[in-house]
Amino acid sequence: MATIEWRSPASEMAVKQFEVAAEKLNLDSNVAARLKRPDRALILSVPTRMDDGRVHVFTGYRVQHNDVLGPFKGGIRYHPDVNLGEVSALAMWMTWKCSLVGLPFGGAKGGVACDPMELSRNELQGMTRRYTAEIFNFIGPEVDVPAPDMGTNEQVMAWVMDTYSQHKGYAVAEIVTGKPVEIGGTLGRREATGRGLVYTIIEAAKHLKIDLARCTAAVQGFGNVGSVAAKQLASVGIKVIALSDRTGGFYDPNGLPVECFLEYAAKNPELRGCPYGEPIGNADLLELKCDILVPAALGMQITKENAGRLKCRILAEGANGPTTLEADEIIKEKEIFVVPDVLANAGGVIVSYFEWVQDLQNFFWTEDEVNKKLRDILTKAFHEVLGVSQREKVGMRLAALMLGVNRVARAMLWRGLYA
Ligand code: NAD
Repeated sequence: MATIEWRSPASEMAVKQFEVAAEKLNLDSNVAARLKRPDRALILSVPTRMDDGRVHVFTGYRVQHNDVLGPFKGGIRYHPDVNLGEVSALAMWMTWKCSLVGLPFGGAKGGVACDPMELSRNELQGMTRRYTAEIFNFIGPEVDVPAPDMGTNEQVMAWVMDTYSQHKGYAVAEIVTGKPVEIGGTLGRREATGRGLVYTIIEAAKHLKIDLARCTAAVQGFGNVGSVAAKQLASVGIKVIALSDRTGGFYDPNGLPVECFLEYAAKNPELRGCPYGEPIGNADLLELKCDILVPAALGMQITKENAGRLKCRILAEGANGPTTLEADEIIKEKEIFVVPDVLANAGGVIVSYFEWVQDLQNFFWTEDEVNKKLRDILTKAFHEVLGVSQREKVGMRLAALMLGVNRVARAMLWRGLYA
């Protein structure tokens, strides 16, 4: 990703993080050179018939970073800022994440530069189906299995599944994860990322000997990850004092009624107008005094400008890449305990793995089974990361990356170079 095509602030951040981990691991230099770049990166034109009859050509991407451990796996993002560099960074983080939690998957990511809030259902469906057709030859249940990410949801996954299946001539449930249960989705997938995030927060609190019942939390973003995280935090007795979405935030030092926000979000496309708490900006929310801060929206929210003003004790990264490299250094000095993105939000891909396994076997599990297996995997991964962090005297992020990178590198050395 060092070459110009992939360059963006996000990809430079991902590559730099990798270089630090590679150096600490004393990684084979040939392997390191290979892992800095994705295996394959597609840039696609996605012509879409708009409701007014015009054809708008969106730009789409699918980046496959590494598949040494198994099929590529990674979400599809719909957001105006989607670009090749960002998708490449997200694909690389997926490789480390799958490896860290021991899944037989590699890392990928996809996206379309668009604002899904501005598109009608018809336009969204047309764009999704054409995007799927454009990547058809590069995905498959044993090749590359997409999933939801920011701006996409189970409806979008259902259209991806249907388009792929129409081309094949039969239902291929295992082509995507995060689908509705009615067409082969798994129980517990929709909640998996937020639920998993809270499992890791519980482990962090135990380690730090913090009583969660006395804790406060602030959550940025109220989509799939943020809303479920807020609900789960409240369910373990944590007072959620601030919530936000892209239209702004809400603050009440005595705690917000999370259930009411969930009801409001079920009926409205955005939180604007929700009648609870005082208004607060997204930037101010991050600087609130609270025990647990959960960024669960965009990347690069915590930077060298605001990191010094953070007042949380635990930073649990629901979003991918919410903290820049410079901010990381400042946070280290402030002794904030970081549960890094590749660990904190891995619940989504773990339950996506369960969904894929169930689809391949046509044998479905109960929600309790899903949640228990999710908790077991995340708890084990949390303690492995903590162990490396303590042994090597490095932060939790570097420890997580060292574990993730090392497994991939070992697999590459076993498999050797085909040339
Ligand atoms: P989503 O589209 O369901 O929700 C995104 C939320 O963020 C919305 O509430 C939106 O209003 C809000 N938002 C957008 N721009 C914002 C801004 N500038 N300030 C504050 N809030 C803003 O997306 P999601 O699936 O919840 O994903 C959120 C983050 O979590 C992303 O970084 C994604 O990569 C990461 N993630 C998601 C999953 C998953 O399973 N969905 C898994 C792992 C990581």
